Amino acid sequence: MSKRIFLSPPHMSGKEQEYIAKVFESNYIAPLGEFVNRFEDTIKSYTGAKYALATNTATSALHLALRVLDIKDGDYVLASTFTFIGSVNAILYQNAKPIFVDSDSSWNISPKLLKKAIYKSPKKPKALIVTHLYGQMAKIDEIIDICKAEGIFVIEDSAESLGATFNGKESGTFGDMGVYSFNGNKILTTSGGGMLVSDNQEYIDRAKFLSTQAKEPTLYYEHKEYGYNYRMSNILASIGVAQMEVLSDRIKRKREIFNLYRDFLSSYKNIEFMPEIEGSVGNRWLTTLILKEHNPFELIKKLQEHNIESRPLWKPMHLQPLFKNDIAIVDGTSEELFKQGICLPSGTAMLDSDIEYISNIIIEVLDA
Ligand SMILES: *Cc1c(COP(=O)(O)O)cnc(C)c1O
Repeated sequence: MSKRIFLSPPHMSGKEQEYIAKVFESNYIAPLGEFVNRFEDTIKSYTGAKYALATNTATSALHLALRVLDIKDGDYVLASTFTFIGSVNAILYQNAKPIFVDSDSSWNISPKLLKKAIYKSPKKPKALIVTHLYGQMAKIDEIIDICKAEGIFVIEDSAESLGATFNGKESGTFGDMGVYSFNGNKILTTSGGGMLVSDNQEYIDRAKFLSTQAKEPTLYYEHKEYGYNYRMSNILASIGVAQMEVLSDRIKRKREIFNLYRDFLSSYKNIEFMPEIEGSVGNRWLTTLILKEHNPFELIKKLQEHNIESRPLWKPMHLQPLFKNDIAIVDGTSEELFKQGICLPSGTAMLDSDIEYISNIIIEVLDA
């Protein structure tokens, strides 16, 4: 059988082991150390965010964001329904209630339905978690305007969209707080990791306090409230520093991969790639498309027969049994995308010939 082609495997820069060795030399193995600060600094200088906090996952960074905003029992939190569960689990950790909002033709959250959801909410929602899906920007300017007018906090789930921009401004820096992920399949990886960013120093200071067991600044161990153990280790941060050095190259390659698929499949009118909204440049984390006249699940099986990993699009949150009793303002858009969509292998180490090979299998299926 031919070598396996994965969806989005880790792609090391080559510098990681050198930096890990430095961590070992210094013996600052864990928990914190110089590389954690350096990783936070590189994120700040790349994205323009004023403050950053490295965490063990993006899920915990989102949890910290909700704690910082004092979201608790019975509060409502708006969220994109078309997203990954890690985006919204923290709402449940806080005993708050999600209100899911459907996508529009951008595949990301619909500003129109967002307004409707605010209006329909049993009480004023405290925050919105907006996902920039598959590395492509949501209509973030409209979304910020709507939420500002209503006094609703905005948390950007930029787990998939590090380096994407809207009008030249980086994903994750529009809202009150933003979150990036360095999980194994993301555009950059530290094997597991996250980052919380904000221009508000109080938010990041408070998140730092909560992420390190909420220890009071006394010589002995004094605790007035409960916290978490959510910080990133120095070893993983050293991998992150090496990965950040190649972020621009990775984005360039992700976009090339998307363009190659689009060119190879250009004669098919019954497929549609995820759009890029006006004014934005996505990182094209995954090349995703919808098939209008074929069953994507059949195509996934076919690709699997050739040892190629592909996946359905995210199953919307409002269709998950977990959320069957929660409010959802939906019009069928994300449900249709889920039924028709597929994520294609988009690893940045893939060769052009791999993409041609995969495209030819897709063409075979579409022609059958
Ligand atoms: C990966 C992902 C997360 C969770 O990130 P972790 O670092 O694995 O916790 C959250 N939201 C979205 C949209 C993701 O893709």
